[in-house]
Amino acid sequence: MPSRIAVVGAGISGLATAWNLQQILPPDSDITVFERSSHVGGTAWTEHSEGYLLERGPNGFLDNRESTLRLCDSIGLTDRLVRANPSSNTRFIFLGDHLRALPASLMSFLTSDLLSWKGKLRVAWERFIRPKLDGGDESIYDFGCRRIGKEATEALLDAFVTGILAGESRQLSLPASFPRMREMEMKYGGLFRAMNQLAKERKANAKKLDQNQEPAPIGSPRGHLTTIAGGMGVLLTTLASRLNRPPILNTAVDRIERASHQRWHVHHDQRVTEVDAVILSSPGQTQAQLLRPIDPELSREIEGIAYAPATVVVLGFPVAKFTKVPQGFGYLAPARLGRPVLGVIFSSSIFPHQSPEGYVQFRAILGGSKRPDVVDWSDDQIVAAVRDDLRITLRIEAEPSFRWIHRWPRAIPQYHLGHLDRLQRIEERRRQHPGLFLGGNLYRGVALNDCIVDAEKTAASVRDFIAH
Ligand SMILES: Cc1cc2nc3c(=O)[nH]c(=O)nc-3n(C[C@H](O)[C@H](O)[C@H](O)COP(=O)(O)OP(=O)(O)OC[C@H]3O[C@@H](n4cnc5c(N)ncnc54)[C@H](O)[C@@H]3O)c2cc1C
Repeated sequence: MPSRIAVVGAGISGLATAWNLQQILPPDSDITVFERSSHVGGTAWTEHSEGYLLERGPNGFLDNRESTLRLCDSIGLTDRLVRANPSSNTRFIFLGDHLRALPASLMSFLTSDLLSWKGKLRVAWERFIRPKLDGGDESIYDFGCRRIGKEATEALLDAFVTGILAGESRQLSLPASFPRMREMEMKYGGLFRAMNQLAKERKANAKKLDQNQEPAPIGSPRGHLTTIAGGMGVLLTTLASRLNRPPILNTAVDRIERASHQRWHVHHDQRVTEVDAVILSSPGQTQAQLLRPIDPELSREIEGIAYAPATVVVLGFPVAKFTKVPQGFGYLAPARLGRPVLGVIFSSSIFPHQSPEGYVQFRAILGGSKRPDVVDWSDDQIVAAVRDDLRITLRIEAEPSFRWIHRWPRAIPQYHLGHLDRLQRIEERRRQHPGLFLGGNLYRGVALNDCIVDAEKTAASVRDFIAH
């Protein structure tokens, strides 16, 4: 009997899982993706308006993970990858008065006005701090204070946390949210030691490549922000179009239950589909809801994973309003400022093709865990907050000629302290339900790259289950 599999949710996690399954299962396997909304993509979706390309969620991914590049290649998108403009490298930090460029070296950091002298020396002292090797959980804030000091943590590390996760560094678990940082400490003894060692390895690799006269590998470490021509939505629609059976849209799965003979019943549209395995790749709320009647404890654990809200705002201005168009990647603001704007990306500098000729685009993210109220503000209030920020940071007084807003009441899952223990408990409960698999950005990584790696692993587990 050919195997039948149901995937719930057509975001990147669900679609990449279905695509991987299609590659590794026998060709007669029947893989059905159910999607509640009218299009695939979930968080990763692109809109177009008045010549602007508008990303509701991710504006790209870092090209340093093989899985993502392999996925793009396997669906024929390699030629459509667009790297960020190299002139957009400079990143800024907003500490409440003006923008400060993030230094490229330790020496330029020491001569910058980012921190007090004491704060800078404390950062430089990082290489002498002994690693914490007990393997226990630790908040990002505590990790930062321990390694680089309180001042740098509150000004710099906190801004990155806000920018990437829209969360609070005191609540978020370092090993769950930034496992690479924990690894740098465990493996190399500290962050600076790790960066030095990795830079040496990169140099040696580059030399080797030079000798062989090969181009630099696309997936070389560090990574460049990369999008797809036409926007991130193209990745998702192309992925969906390569599936043998197109995702079933406008179809929410409203119940799953064990059927006889080790199979599952998936309820949707007052119909039932019988499958051998079901993979939940929807957000936490719906996973918890679907699992409640089957395993209330598992449902409670999943429900316990918090989400931070976020609001995405794009403002467009005619180039003529600027004597000099701001160049660089954009800026982040630490949560301690309590400002509604978490950061602003200079979209026209990064991806010039995403704005109409003669116009400049800025993309701001507002809200997060510290300012959950912002998502309920009116459009005018939201735009006023962004304009207020741009007035201080970039001296932009002009009225925007274009504005666009997308609200995410539950934008980004937060891996709070205890997340890894929670994952263990979730996995133990999941194993009690053969044929049930859990995926999505709420477990093992929020970035698209992480979701794609996780989808590969989930597909491999499903294959092993089917094979037994
Ligand atoms: C504002 C913002 C900016 C971001 N920027 C970046 C970035 O620059 N780079 C990066 O790497 N990552 C970024 N991310 C994170 C990344 O986009 C997400 O983590 C990722 O897209 C989540 O994918 P997913 O498939 O796990 O979940 P989702 O995208 O949430 O997909 C889940 C899908 O399940 C569907 N669904 C829900 N319930 C049901 C049901 N009952 N039946 C059927 N279908 C159902 C939903 O409609 C949805 O389509 C950003 C996220 C946000 C919110």
